[in-house]
Amino acid sequence: MTDTPALTVGILGGGQLARMLALAGAPLGLRFLVLDVAPDACAGQCAPLIVADYHDAAALEKFADAVDVVTFDFENVPADAAQWLAERLPVYPNPDALAVAQDRLAEKQLFLELGMATPEFRAIDSRADLERACAEIGFPCILKTRRLGYDGKGQVRLRSDADIDAAWSALGHVPLILEAFVAFDRELSVIAVRGQDGEFRAYPLTQNWHTDGVLALSLAPAPDSDVVAPVAFESAQLLADRLDYVGVFALELFEKDGELLANEMAPRVHNSGHWTIEGADCSQFANHLRAVTGLPLGSTAAQGTAAMLNWIGTLPDRAAVLEQARGYFHDYGKSPREGRKVGHATLTAAEPAALARALAEAGAAIDRVEQVQPALRVLVP
Ligand code: AMP
Repeated sequence: MTDTPALTVGILGGGQLARMLALAGAPLGLRFLVLDVAPDACAGQCAPLIVADYHDAAALEKFADAVDVVTFDFENVPADAAQWLAERLPVYPNPDALAVAQDRLAEKQLFLELGMATPEFRAIDSRADLERACAEIGFPCILKTRRLGYDGKGQVRLRSDADIDAAWSALGHVPLILEAFVAFDRELSVIAVRGQDGEFRAYPLTQNWHTDGVLALSLAPAPDSDVVAPVAFESAQLLADRLDYVGVFALELFEKDGELLANEMAPRVHNSGHWTIEGADCSQFANHLRAVTGLPLGSTAAQGTAAMLNWIGTLPDRAAVLEQARGYFHDYGKSPREGRKVGHATLTAAEPAALARALAEAGAAIDRVEQVQPALRVLVP
C-alpha cells in the first residue's frame, strides 16, 4: 500500500484564481498557502493567507519553508521573487516562462520565432520610435505598456497623428509596444495544460467577447472551429514545449479572414477557461494542480456546450441564474467596486439550442440581455 503525504501548494497572488485553485484542490487532499499584499485578498477566505509584499525576504522565506511547490495566480510577480523561490523549490510555470509572458514584446517575438502570425508590432522606447512606428504601421493602432498591463489597462488606441501627444504623455514613461489594430472577426482562446512529463492537452477552443478590454462573455466549444482549432492547438503546444511550460496557460488569438493572429499568452489559469469547472470533464483548476503536483492530467473534453458570463463591478441576482437547470453561480467574496471582477456564472447544456434558450432566459431575468446577446447570435445564426 502506498501512502501519499499531503502536499502544500504555495500560490503567489490571492485573487479569484487562487481561490478557485484552492477549491479545486480540496478533493485531491492538497493544502494551500497564499501570499498576497492585500489583507482582504479573496483567496484568504478559502486558504491560509500570508499578507506581505512580494519583495519581503522574511515573508518569502516563511512561505518557502511551508510549501512543497509554488505556482501563481497572476503573472506580474516580480521576477527576482520567482527566481529566489525557484532556487529552493519546484516553481511552475518556471520563472523563464513567466518572464517571457510578462513582456508583450518578448512574447510576440517568440510567437514569430515559432512561426505564428501576430498583429504587426514595433518596440517603442522613445517618442521618435512612436512617430516612426505610426507612420509604418498606420492607423488605427494600439500603444501598450510592455509590462504590467492587464484587462485593457496600460493601453491607448490611436486614430491619427493627432493622438500621438496624448498617448505619449499617458504611457511614455515606460517601455512600450505599438500594435496594428486588428479588425478581427472574432476572439478565441486556447486553454491548455502541459504536465511535468511534457504531456499536452487542450480544451476545445473558446470564443470570447470583451467590453472595454475586459472579458464579458465566453462560449465553448467555439462554433465553426474545425479548421482553426488544429492550428491553434499546434501553436499552443509549440509554445508550451519551447518554454518547458508546466501547468495551465491561455493563448489569446484574433481570427480574421480564417487566419489566426496571436495576441498574448497568460501563464496561468485564465478567465476564459472558467467554463471548464462545470462544462468540461476536468476543470482548468484541477488540471493545473494535477500538472504542478505531478499527477496524471485529466480529460479536457467538453460535456456539451457552455457559456460563461463575467460579473464586473456588482453581482446580479444569483437565484435567477440558479433557477436554470444547469446554471452555476460563482461569488468571489469581494466587495463591489467599479471595473472589478466580482464573480461569474456558467450555463451549460447538451447542445447549442438549449444553451441559447437558457442564456436568453437567464439574461432577461438578471437584466443582462446585452451581455448574452453576442453568444445568442452565434448559437442561433
Ligand atoms: P490585451 O490586454 O492585449 O489582451 O487586450 C485586451 C483586449 O483589447 C483584447 O482582448 C482585444 O479585445 C483588444 N485588443 C488588444 N490588442 C488589440 C489589437 N492589436 N487589435 C484589436 N484589438 C485589440
